[in-house]
Amino acid sequence: GMRIGKYEFGRTLGQGNFGKVKYAKHIDSGKSFAIKILEKHRIHDLRITDQIKREIRTLKVLKHPNVVRLYEVLASKTKIYMVLEYVNGGELFDRIASKGKLSESQGRKLFQQLIDGVSYCHDKGVFHRDLKLENVLIDGGRNIKITDFGLSALPQHLRDDGLLHTTCGSPNYVAPEVLSNRGYDGATSDTWSCGVILYVILTGFLPFDDRNLAVLYHKREGSLGVTYKDVASQVRAVETASCRNVGRAGSLGVTYKGVASQVRVVEIASC
Ligand code: ADP
Ligand code: MG
Ligand code: MG
Repeated sequence: GMRIGKYEFGRTLGQGNFGKVKYAKHIDSGKSFAIKILEKHRIHDLRITDQIKREIRTLKVLKHPNVVRLYEVLASKTKIYMVLEYVNGGELFDRIASKGKLSESQGRKLFQQLIDGVSYCHDKGVFHRDLKLENVLIDGGRNIKITDFGLSALPQHLRDDGLLHTTCGSPNYVAPEVLSNRGYDGATSDTWSCGVILYVILTGFLPFDDRNLAVLYHKREGSLGVTYKDVASQVRAVETASCRNVGRAGSLGVTYKGVASQVRVVEIASC
């Protein structure tokens, strides 16, 4: 089969925005890894180069049982290879999409792990900014591993006001204040996304959803004093950042379930 360094490639595990993620076996040790392959010809864009550097720089410092580990980075003429911890249970997204919501006790266990991983990142000054079911993987022992730090922010990204200002994330999961144009706290906005994840874990539905992004955001109007006008100007930016995941969100067969129960869940998530 195909090789890079001491790794032999197997099947494709997932499709990323800039290339595939493949299963790989280390030839000497026989150990399993996941290798994220980034095609250099697709990353001439400066913004994307920055994302990859950021992902590598961030993952290098994160060592936690609920955060995917990065072991080494290899490069060829045409590609960059990120050698990651292999997580064998796939995305939480696929788990919920195929089997539906989790039981309360299982949901509690996974959510506790998610919060442990996220607060560890925050303690290290790392804000994920793209927490969603697709970026939460499960291993054979039914433990979660947070992955995909391409949009993450580090302390040096904070402006003088101590806040972050880049609009990014995925429509169903992004916190209202991220769309506000007034700056946002990375820990609070990650917590919002965790609340959305908890809602989906326990109900099998996204709390806010619509094919039309403007309508989707409109459904949250009033949350944290963000108005529809603030949001409308940001719709395009988020649309670009979210790419393929808007389509996938629809495949959960999701409908809008009512704000009241959602708000409760978010409160649980933020304590
Ligand atoms: P992108 O930044 O392009 O979204 P991701 O890092 O999220 O790329 O990887 C894309 C997909 O590949 C994931 O959603 C998942 O299905 C799979 N994947 C990524 N990392 C691993 C891993 N360490 N183990 C198993 N599968 C993975
Ligand atoms: Mg991803
Ligand atoms: Mg990414």
